[in-house]
Amino acid sequence: MASIIQALPTEVVYLITAGEVIDCFASVVRELVENSLDAGATRIVISVWPQSWRVRVADNGWGMNLDDLQQAATAHSTSKIHSAADLWKIKSLGFRGEALHSLTTLADLEIFSRAEGINEGWRVIYGDSGEVLETEVTAIAPGTIVTVDNLFANCPARRQGLPNSTQQMKSVQGIIQQIALCHPHVTYQVWQNDRQWFTLYPTSSVSQLIPQILPQVKQGDLKELNLEIPNSQSTITLVIGLPDRCHRHRPDWVKVAINGRIIKSPELEQTILSAFHKTLPRDRYPVCFLHLTISPDQINWNRNPSKTEIYLNEISYWQEQITAAINQALRISEANIKESVHTTRISKLLKVAEAKGSYNFKSQDNSQNTDSKTQNYLKAVAQVSNTYIIAEHSGGMWLVEQHIAHERVLYEQICDNWQIVPVETPIILYQLSPAQVSQLQRINLDIETFGEKLWAVRNIPAMLQQREDAAEALLELSWGGDLQTAQVAVACRSAIRNGTPMSLPEMQKLLDDWQRTRNPLTCPHGRPIYLSLEESALSRFFRRHWVIGKSHGI
Ligand code: ADP
Ligand code: MG
Repeated sequence: MASIIQALPTEVVYLITAGEVIDCFASVVRELVENSLDAGATRIVISVWPQSWRVRVADNGWGMNLDDLQQAATAHSTSKIHSAADLWKIKSLGFRGEALHSLTTLADLEIFSRAEGINEGWRVIYGDSGEVLETEVTAIAPGTIVTVDNLFANCPARRQGLPNSTQQMKSVQGIIQQIALCHPHVTYQVWQNDRQWFTLYPTSSVSQLIPQILPQVKQGDLKELNLEIPNSQSTITLVIGLPDRCHRHRPDWVKVAINGRIIKSPELEQTILSAFHKTLPRDRYPVCFLHLTISPDQINWNRNPSKTEIYLNEISYWQEQITAAINQALRISEANIKESVHTTRISKLLKVAEAKGSYNFKSQDNSQNTDSKTQNYLKAVAQVSNTYIIAEHSGGMWLVEQHIAHERVLYEQICDNWQIVPVETPIILYQLSPAQVSQLQRINLDIETFGEKLWAVRNIPAMLQQREDAAEALLELSWGGDLQTAQVAVACRSAIRNGTPMSLPEMQKLLDDWQRTRNPLTCPHGRPIYLSLEESALSRFFRRHWVIGKSHGI
């Protein structure tokens, strides 16, 4: 692709938010890597030498011819937009034509480039207002190598104002990871002081990339959804950490990207956090990466120079879409039960074997009733230790803890239908502190003194109505917390205890109710509800492929 770099017309320059684009090491890396991506690169090598304030980014993108090289670093020169109207059609990461120019004023800039389909490459050295100082033919592979040296050498105050080099290298690493999350199909090879530092290998989906960035997270701990929004050419890519498998002690992995760049969007971040409400342990935060691809005319990138803040049209529409997507990802569906089986080679072998062999066990093809919405994926098989239900499904089996599964069911019922109902005989409580009394009032209970150190409660949460231990439950509620904490406490108290024997129909009823909850993976305190024993893992453990391989000649 031939790009033609031109100076933007003055009236467009006036429209563009002016300001510092280069204020630290990481911003140099960001600008150069974004240029490489805009040039269609699939392989980017980033080298940093913090002590010599040098950065080099080499790519295999479509490069620049000599004319473009000579124009590249002059003020407001870009090949990406040409008019004011183009500001609403931005598909590239860059558009202001400022980065290379600013770099010439803050550092020494040298570019090697060879354009696609052209036999010679050029090396250009720029002066401190972007003018060309030296040009020579050079032998390089197609692509571009930009070297920035002596960064901020002419403004020592700027250097002093920056954090130490370890901190700065952390931000460099962070920025590369952020870019990679939005562009995972590219190889990022990163060097520091002439030594390999880290590499991010290209992947076809973000959920394959995340374990390279967060080594404690495995791909199986994540769920990725790719949704197309009908009639809008928009897509949502959502990767969540399953709340029973991973979470963070800081909200540092609630990331929102729009059209190829991670942005700060307090509103959308809050939407994500709310969608995970009561699925995680206390003070823990989800792992969630959200990438919206939206028609460029819906976004104004031109709000601040670093492009991390934007104006997005119809934000509440997007908030609804995001909540729905997260809810979908958190649910148990036939698709995610079967996934593990269908993707492993072993299961394919098993299928072949079972189709041919005489030891074909019960077929679990329930395709006949796929149209029924209330389909049950789980079959109660047995109870273990009066605590766990063995639930069989088409992909293996799960061990479900009965108390917390029931707690999840009740909690959602309570949230949807919280009712305080009158009781015939008041419940008498003893020796409450003033704080306990006002706590019970705060959750709308009708409580009054009944005598010395005695109180009468005349109404209670509906769920506690039939219970003999209602007084104890009320005491528990009096210990504080907001309405939600009270709802969790009521659910917990009303849920079937571990140690209680259950009949098969009772277990089946519980499984049916539980698999239809909005957040089946964890209880409202954030504990995992089930342990999965996938067929693929079982067959691997029992080495079933040995027999099959031999007897069927596979
Ligand atoms: P912008 O990215 O906003 O256009 P820059 O100052 O970053 O402005 O770059 C100026 C121009 O130089 C770009 O529009 C592009 O045409 C060209 N350019 C910069 N880096 C590269 C690269 N790695 N490969 C090809 N062209 C590049
Ligand atoms: Mg740029």
